[in-house]
Amino acid sequence: MNKFFYNVAIAVPLRQTFTYHSNQEIIPGTRVAVKFGKTNKLGVVTETVSNSDIQTKPIHMVLDDGPVFSKTELKIFKWASNYYLHPIGEVVISFLPTHLRQIKNTYEVSILDDNKKIIEKNLDFETTLNSEQVKAVKFINKLQGFMPTLLYGVTGSGKTEIYIRCIYEKLLNNKSVLVLAPEIALTPQLESRVRNQFGDLVGIYHSKMTPTARYKVWKKFKNGEIKIIIGTRSAVMLPASKLGLIIVDEEHDASYKQQEGFKFSARDIAIKRAQTIKIPIILGSATPSLRTLKLVDDKKFQSISLTKRVTQKSPPKFSILDINEVNLVSGLAPQAIDAINRTLNQNKQAMIFINRRGFAPQFICSYCDWKAMCNSCDSSLVFHYQASRLICHRCDSAFGVPTHCPSCSKAQLSFHGTGTEQLEKTLKEIFPNSPIYRLDRDSTTKVGSLETILSEINNSDTGILIGTQMLIKGHDFPNLELVVAVNVDQGITSLNSSALEEMGQQLIQVAGRAGRLDGNATVLVQSRYTNDQNLLQLRSGNYLNFTKSLMKQRQLMNQPPYSFEATIKAVSPNAQTNLDMLIQTKKFIDATNCIVIGPIPAMQSKVRGSYHHHLVIQANTRTGLNKLLADLANSLTADKNKIFKKVRWSINIDPTEF
Ligand SMILES: [Zn+2]
Ligand SMILES: [Zn+2]
Repeated sequence: MNKFFYNVAIAVPLRQTFTYHSNQEIIPGTRVAVKFGKTNKLGVVTETVSNSDIQTKPIHMVLDDGPVFSKTELKIFKWASNYYLHPIGEVVISFLPTHLRQIKNTYEVSILDDNKKIIEKNLDFETTLNSEQVKAVKFINKLQGFMPTLLYGVTGSGKTEIYIRCIYEKLLNNKSVLVLAPEIALTPQLESRVRNQFGDLVGIYHSKMTPTARYKVWKKFKNGEIKIIIGTRSAVMLPASKLGLIIVDEEHDASYKQQEGFKFSARDIAIKRAQTIKIPIILGSATPSLRTLKLVDDKKFQSISLTKRVTQKSPPKFSILDINEVNLVSGLAPQAIDAINRTLNQNKQAMIFINRRGFAPQFICSYCDWKAMCNSCDSSLVFHYQASRLICHRCDSAFGVPTHCPSCSKAQLSFHGTGTEQLEKTLKEIFPNSPIYRLDRDSTTKVGSLETILSEINNSDTGILIGTQMLIKGHDFPNLELVVAVNVDQGITSLNSSALEEMGQQLIQVAGRAGRLDGNATVLVQSRYTNDQNLLQLRSGNYLNFTKSLMKQRQLMNQPPYSFEATIKAVSPNAQTNLDMLIQTKKFIDATNCIVIGPIPAMQSKVRGSYHHHLVIQANTRTGLNKLLADLANSLTADKNKIFKKVRWSINIDPTEF
């Protein structure tokens, strides 16, 4: 009997594949069931091996009639496993649709006649392109092979129309296209625009869909029935037939980075995928990340710009409002309230951008300074008025609201700070006749509620919009004349360097929602740091000015993108165990020429009863960092010190949360 040997990636947290044998020939990429320890586990064959020196067990079931992943896709998984130092089995399985993560389900290969032309030549487009857009489309359509390109377009410059023309060009050549977008459920516009144009050829893929719906889309894209995918980060490795172009819209968006488990960046994997199959990739944004801008500076990425708004509307003017020595009303300066009043009198809309949901972020005893905190996290509890509860935004635990202080029994409890709910209540009192719309996670939990609120806003001339960053993601409000940004100071004072970059991006994006033909729209930024250099740069409304000065600061401090960062995190129910483990780990890193900071408590130092600590590592080269971490992961896994077994440890490459 013939005996073939295979390496199999199994869904276990171990940094290796395992060799099994079979009497059948199995194509790599096929799912199998194997015995691992005492249980049956799902695995994916990653490669054939000529023979094995070690004793192997048999593969006892081939689950599919063909491979679910191609050789190229497997190659990218292997790269991702090495790059992110994450167990290969978990990497591979995480890109399977939930339906195929179960041994009982089978993937049946269906092959379409993929060669017939699927789209008409001379398709009608809804919109006319301006000369800048025409230039960009020509530029992109000429790209051959791997060619990462930044499409920098100011807000409202019509990037979506460019995507549509470039997708069309690929369809004419019988190629498929992958479009990644952050949080599609929050930004239905891109989806509806692409769907209007290409109908059934479009599939949507994100985590809010049911597993069955996702599996359907997965299969159709793999066999070529669907030619265009619009998906969130989980769609980045959808098996594709004849992929010809990848588009990463809003490439700067933080949601491309997965923060739990396999901590990958979908933007980075998308770039690797394009490189591996030698196709162009477009990174679109009005506020590109510093990392991307650095790659453009270094001539590793190309770049094309859209500087004009398609509507010919002038961009809004920025003005910084000093709130030192000002009595704020629910977080708003009197001058801001006057500006809202003027806007409403002109029958226009005003928006308050505040990145804090709930009523008040703190609940405090003024007698003994007791503060309501979550039982199992180090987060202050946020008072929610409608729910009449104190809620932890970290673990979602909810608590009753005490009438007397649990510490000193005095009835001197009060709320501090402002959230979206409180602003809504206050503004309703000040402007009783004006419609007020609140957009945050709490007001949009019901399916369809976001769409309802958005259409109400668009059907009304006047009114006040209150919202978190959810409000600034790609929505256009034609009647919006005034934006008031509250709470930007957190970005200015944060020790986390990416907080400032994100603050700049949010202000430019929020300004992009406003703008009128006569150029009278204003963005009022409330701040206590009116002389802050970064804030002053933003006042021009020119994002690139802001990034230039920020880049200089980063270079001076040798921070990314001028160096490469990773964190080693330790999680356990005992803070001292974390520290012991990280101090041991630090000794290992001290022997190299990388810089290591810590151990320090994570920004969220206690979550659901477990303590979080980490080391921050900085290296001058990507290869240097990768080699150090690979050696480190090996030594932590081998574990001569029992201490490493007492904590859950993980590595985060290019971290965005600290
Ligand atoms: Zn008290
Ligand atoms: Zn909590």
